[in-house]
Amino acid sequence: MRLRDLPSVDELARQSDDPLAVEVARKVVTRAREQIQQGGDPGDLGAQLQAELTSARAPHLRRAINATGVIVHTNLGRAPLADAALDRVREIAQGYSNLEYDLTAGGRGSRQDHVADVLRRLTGADAALVVNNNAAAVMLALAALAEGREVLVSRGELIEIGDGFRIPDVLERSGATLHEVGTTNRTRAADYETAIGPETAVLLRVHQSNFRVVGFTAQPSLRELADVAHRHGLPLVDDLGSGALVDFSDEPTARASLAAGADLVCFSGDKLLGGPQAGIVVGRADLVEKLRRHPLQRALRADKLTLAALEGTLALVIDAPDEIPVLRMLRESPEVVRARAARLAELVGGEVEETIAKAGGGALPLTELPSFACAVEEELAVKLRTGDPPVIAVVRDGRTLLDCRTLTDAEADEAAAAIAAARP
Ligand SMILES: *Cc1c(COP(=O)(O)O)cnc(C)c1O
Repeated sequence: MRLRDLPSVDELARQSDDPLAVEVARKVVTRAREQIQQGGDPGDLGAQLQAELTSARAPHLRRAINATGVIVHTNLGRAPLADAALDRVREIAQGYSNLEYDLTAGGRGSRQDHVADVLRRLTGADAALVVNNNAAAVMLALAALAEGREVLVSRGELIEIGDGFRIPDVLERSGATLHEVGTTNRTRAADYETAIGPETAVLLRVHQSNFRVVGFTAQPSLRELADVAHRHGLPLVDDLGSGALVDFSDEPTARASLAAGADLVCFSGDKLLGGPQAGIVVGRADLVEKLRRHPLQRALRADKLTLAALEGTLALVIDAPDEIPVLRMLRESPEVVRARAARLAELVGGEVEETIAKAGGGALPLTELPSFACAVEEELAVKLRTGDPPVIAVVRDGRTLLDCRTLTDAEADEAAAAIAAARP
């Protein structure tokens, strides 16, 4: 094709009655002109117009199938929600609700009241507050309790959690000043004790979520830290990160942290809790009230969809934890996972491969969950990833592994169909 044979943008756009046709035709013609100038052949412009229109109409945020074996996968949306939680979202989002309306008094109520009771019951706390995510929870706690004053943190806990979220930066943004104590590998209760001065407002403990320090190490227990803080009339804030509500492996629970003396505990809604993205703060009523009254609370608070999903998830924590997908995946027996992998392997002519799944989300970095994958040809990985729905697998030793711990039975069937479609 020569330049003068190119259709005009309008001519090409007339092949479709889609309102986006002119914009998309301009892109197709521009690209074709460049290809001709470089000596190439632009091909069938009408077909390109249709393909570009289809992709422009497709949602950009899409469901994906997680065959990586990383349960709380931050890049893949962390925690899938339980059906009961989704039902609550649909019910509340569909119409009006008592989000900030007190049905008994017939007047203004607080959005923070809906999940406070169940959080108190699950953690033993006096009070609770929910904000957008755990980074917001930590920031709000420090802003409300330590703005313009000092926060003591161990040098072993000045961590980066992911995507540049660093404790020292959050602390600075909250308006508090960081006072480092101890060393990277060893910090003692006495280090905090000697660092406390007239400017000290809070002792902060940060759970070493996504790494462990091993070897010549020392860390005060939470109870020792709480004793130091309370002797000086200061609050101890514990950033738990993952915040398990159900005992799992060596991950500390919010209840245990409060029982050991933490005054406020902050944790994520969409890590080991298995709910929506949220930051949950539980603890002493007077401190939670300070957070609630701080101007940042208004900017950081959770929306009604989050609160609905969280209430739905928290109800299951008590009654039916295995209906929460994250908890089911964490606790499912290796035999069940193996059976799923065997069925998938049979459907696609793959091989069952023993492997290791991970909790992810910066939780339990040393915990290896025994798992089983279905192994297929290496070259399928890209096609699976770019297919519909996308299937995200792991390439290892020249093969594509689909870890079956992070698949439901229905997703294993979808993965089988995707593999069949990806093969030449
Ligand atoms: C994950 C994590 C956070 C951040 O939580 P988000 O809910 O992702 O904002 C903060 N602190 C710790 C220790 C974490 O592990």
